[in-house]
Amino acid sequence: MIPMVNLKAQYADIQDEIVRGFAETLDHCAFILGPNVQAFEQEAAEYLGVKHAIGCASGTDALHLALLAEGIGPGDEVITSAFTFIATAEAIKYVGATPVFVDIDPGTFNITPENIKNAITDKTKAVMPVHLFGQPADLPAIKAICDKHGLKLIEDCAQSFGATISNQQTGSFGEAAGFSFFPSKNLGCFGDGGLVTTNSDETAAKIKQYRNHGSDVRYYHDVIGYNSRLDELQAVVLRAKLKRIDQYNAARRHAAHLYSKLMADLPLTTPYEDGVGVHVYHQYTLLCDRRDEVMKALQDQQIASAVYYPVPLHKQNVFMAECAGLSLPVTESVAARCFSLPICSSLSDDTVKQIVGVIRSVLAA
Ligand SMILES: *Cc1c(COP(=O)(O)O)cnc(C)c1O
Repeated sequence: MIPMVNLKAQYADIQDEIVRGFAETLDHCAFILGPNVQAFEQEAAEYLGVKHAIGCASGTDALHLALLAEGIGPGDEVITSAFTFIATAEAIKYVGATPVFVDIDPGTFNITPENIKNAITDKTKAVMPVHLFGQPADLPAIKAICDKHGLKLIEDCAQSFGATISNQQTGSFGEAAGFSFFPSKNLGCFGDGGLVTTNSDETAAKIKQYRNHGSDVRYYHDVIGYNSRLDELQAVVLRAKLKRIDQYNAARRHAAHLYSKLMADLPLTTPYEDGVGVHVYHQYTLLCDRRDEVMKALQDQQIASAVYYPVPLHKQNVFMAECAGLSLPVTESVAARCFSLPICSSLSDDTVKQIVGVIRSVLAA
């Protein structure tokens, strides 16, 4: 079976370093906000080019804490994408705000500056672009709109660790950003984990409180907070992988470019790169009118493929009533035709060729 991500192969390379880190942790027993969490936060902030990086329990929590710390709450509208994982909108709902879904660009699958501009009302407080599948949203243009209208820019970077625009990291453009370390993400740990980034001292201080029961000093509580800390053992894993993230992302880009080159003549749409942002291919996602046929053929050859995402958020049961009558034609058309192929840092050229061979046998016939 060829899986969507081969985590075993990636682990084999770094096993010694991780096992050593785990053994040290078991020795010192500082399991909560210990030395590896602190070191990882510093190393991640340095890598991402931000003043503060604060570990937390998941990517969903990272977005939630970022919105809370930025003061987004009941009655506020947050402009975002419906073509994303549910957690983007869940975080907005957790703080009592309303997600306002706008349509995407058919090439990048990200929300467009034009659509954002048209959705602004006097209740809009923030814009939350998602760098979907690892492709940066048009942050310079989105940031200009936010600055002009006094809106907060809060990036969903769950799929974009290491993606850049003009050498600037996603997660460093807005007021705050949330990253996920779910195992299959570009930088993944061995369970759940997340990170909030910000350049604001005030926001960072709030997030540190919110993630730890509203407390700076143990048993003294200033606000109602949460239990949402990054685990010390996960920080060991993340430190080992952060050192290699550029190599991992380069391998993903290499595999993606090989896929696209080998399929250039087939009747499907390979991923678009705008030449400004550096896409880190969390997913390699195609558009094809004969998606179901292709996926069936891959499955018959023991090759995984998946649809991210079959149902856009405004068509989900949970948002059906709230979004009644909302039409997002590009989002809906993309959701009906998209599918993703295996991609990860250990995918070989031969495997890419084998997968393309199966797709070719269906589409060139
Ligand atoms: C994975 C993901 C999240 C949530 O991250 P978790 O760590 O699973 O909570 C949020 N947004 C997007 C776009 C994601 O892909």
